[in-house]
Amino acid sequence: MKPAAFDYAAPTSLDDALGLLAANDTAKVLAGGQSLIPLLNLRLAAPELLVDLRRVPGLDTITRAGDELTIGATVRQRKAERDPVVAEAAPLVTAALAEVGHPQIRSRGTIGGSIAHADPAAELPAVLVALDGRVIARGPGGERSIAAADFYLGFLTTALADDEILVAVALPVAPPRTGAACVEIAQRAGDYAACGAVAQVTLDEAGNVAQARVALIGATDRPVRASAVEEALAGGASIAHAAEGVEPIDDPRVPGAYRIHLAGVVTRRALEQARGRAA
Ligand SMILES: Cc1cc2nc3c(=O)[nH]c(=O)nc-3n(C[C@H](O)[C@H](O)[C@H](O)COP(=O)(O)OP(=O)(O)OC[C@H]3O[C@@H](n4cnc5c(N)ncnc54)[C@H](O)[C@@H]3O)c2cc1C
Repeated sequence: MKPAAFDYAAPTSLDDALGLLAANDTAKVLAGGQSLIPLLNLRLAAPELLVDLRRVPGLDTITRAGDELTIGATVRQRKAERDPVVAEAAPLVTAALAEVGHPQIRSRGTIGGSIAHADPAAELPAVLVALDGRVIARGPGGERSIAAADFYLGFLTTALADDEILVAVALPVAPPRTGAACVEIAQRAGDYAACGAVAQVTLDEAGNVAQARVALIGATDRPVRASAVEEALAGGASIAHAAEGVEPIDDPRVPGAYRIHLAGVVTRRALEQARGRAA
């Protein structure tokens, strides 16, 4: 199928991009196009205008300042995956990006596009939630920061307003003795996971778990923290109840009960790998 007709604009400043969004109710931001173009081709979206961010300056930088790592919205996923600053400051981003589709997709797809698209089966939204990061958005009224816990509202739905642009994501820098892992169960390598987990484990000087951060991918309609597991681990207990309180997605491909079972399996594996890498 071909998309419905649309206009295309490639503004060269953020203000111009915001102006175009404000002037057209159905306008959509175009970043890497790896999710939006398929939606257009399937006619699941029919915006009158695409506002391409590619020529907007200042959105493609990676900055570490103090205890925060900031990744610009249009940084390509492949660039972030290979970036040594990201690997040191946010090893969970590096681990998760390796599981996003294929290298060709990551070469076009952007960090901001994946975070804004809000696919519950995507890896980066789970990383944002696990690390308690924040989204920096710019709209007609200026800039605002949205905590990860408030950002995802449901399937493909975020707290971003239609006239706002996600300009960057900010993540806390990982403390010393931290390891990270992303484990998924999918039908084929590179497919969206039936269920997955991202985990970051920090050890204290004695080698005990000082902090564990875990979020589930594809378990429910948005990325979700496995809080019960995090608390149990920080208290020295064993891993149990990964999907406690989670209302699972239930579909013919992956029934809900099986998804809950997978949540336990991937959580255990991700935590074991992350802990091994922290040591
Ligand atoms: C075959 C295939 C396999 C894939 N497998 C995976 C996978 O395993 N895991 C995974 O996570 N992803 C996967 N993807 C999706 C890929 O990661 C996309 O790159 C990502 O979801 C969207 O990023 P994008 O830059 O391409 O955004 P686009 O497709 O351009 O945009 C996606 C949505 O986000 C909005 N948007 C984009 N940027 C902004 C912004 N800065 N501010 C506000 N709104 C914005 C757009 O308006 C649109 O609604 C796959 C894609 C394909 C084609």
